Amino acid sequence: MTLQDFEAFTNQKGFSRIGCIAYGTEGDYPVLIQYLTSSQWRITFTANIAQPVALQSRMAVLFPKRTVSKILCKPDSVAFTLCFHGENPLELYQYALSIVMSALSASGVVPLTFCPFCGQDGCDSLCVVQDRYAPVHETCASRAYPPAVLPNESAAPSSGNLITGLIGAVLGLLVGCLPQFALNLVSGYSLAALYLLPALFAFGGYKLFRGSDSSIGRTLCVVLSILFAPCVTILCAVASIMNSMGFSMNASFALLPIGLEDVQFATAVALELFYSFLFSVVGCIVGWKVFLSVRHIPTETFRAHLATLRRYSDTRYQQAQPSYKESPSHEEENF
Ligand SMILES: [Zn+2]
Repeated sequence: MTLQDFEAFTNQKGFSRIGCIAYGTEGDYPVLIQYLTSSQWRITFTANIAQPVALQSRMAVLFPKRTVSKILCKPDSVAFTLCFHGENPLELYQYALSIVMSALSASGVVPLTFCPFCGQDGCDSLCVVQDRYAPVHETCASRAYPPAVLPNESAAPSSGNLITGLIGAVLGLLVGCLPQFALNLVSGYSLAALYLLPALFAFGGYKLFRGSDSSIGRTLCVVLSILFAPCVTILCAVASIMNSMGFSMNASFALLPIGLEDVQFATAVALELFYSFLFSVVGCIVGWKVFLSVRHIPTETFRAHLATLRRYSDTRYQQAQPSYKESPSHEEENF
């Protein structure tokens, strides 16, 4: 599932969206959805939860582990990660929603009515506050947040392109093997840790060249890195022949099969091959974590809080202020 699917989903639901964060209401509960990856959404319901521990264990029982992970109940919210395995986003969301709603009502949870800034009732708006969408007083939110900064579209992750990403990954592999090659060329020795670089650079290149945020892209990065491991070893063996014999690269390549007949040299190359594979695997793990890891909500850097502020009159959320129901026409009268 791509960010476009997420956009389509939010449009279907009538939710607002800034980058990879969507917000709206489900019944009496404000809900915030973060698009983490192509297969994971973080969903947070804001509610007044008297017994968060009880609710958390109830939800852990109701949800299959494959579908929902990292359930976290706090006195003012319940959050969980929805994991997709090829399902229709809207259908899986509605399924999760029905379970959450039944768990909330079974646990005696009620909508939150007090403002997180002043602690008073009588909220008139909804606004993204930290990692949740919460009822607030418009005046409190305006005081707490600087003037609305319009969302920077480029800050939103693009869905990317698999082909450009893979070109970046291949370039990364080539650049990443240069230090080890150069070391062999100059000294005739290699440093095992340098075998880490090709895989690491492959993931960096994939990201730099805007590779698509998909599991197939990540998997291909891993496959390329592993397949490249023996190539690096061969290149380094050639470089070490060039260093010790002073031959050209072509001549050293031609000499390699003869050199491998020497047990000592063959053993050294086999050991290098082992290190190359080992560090490629480590490089893949580190690269995956560093460059393609799950995006957490940038709460500290999320500077568009006030841009998310909606008066109750502009939302379907009318729990605390039913009198605002007809207010769009009031505003027209004022005009
Ligand atoms: Zn307030």
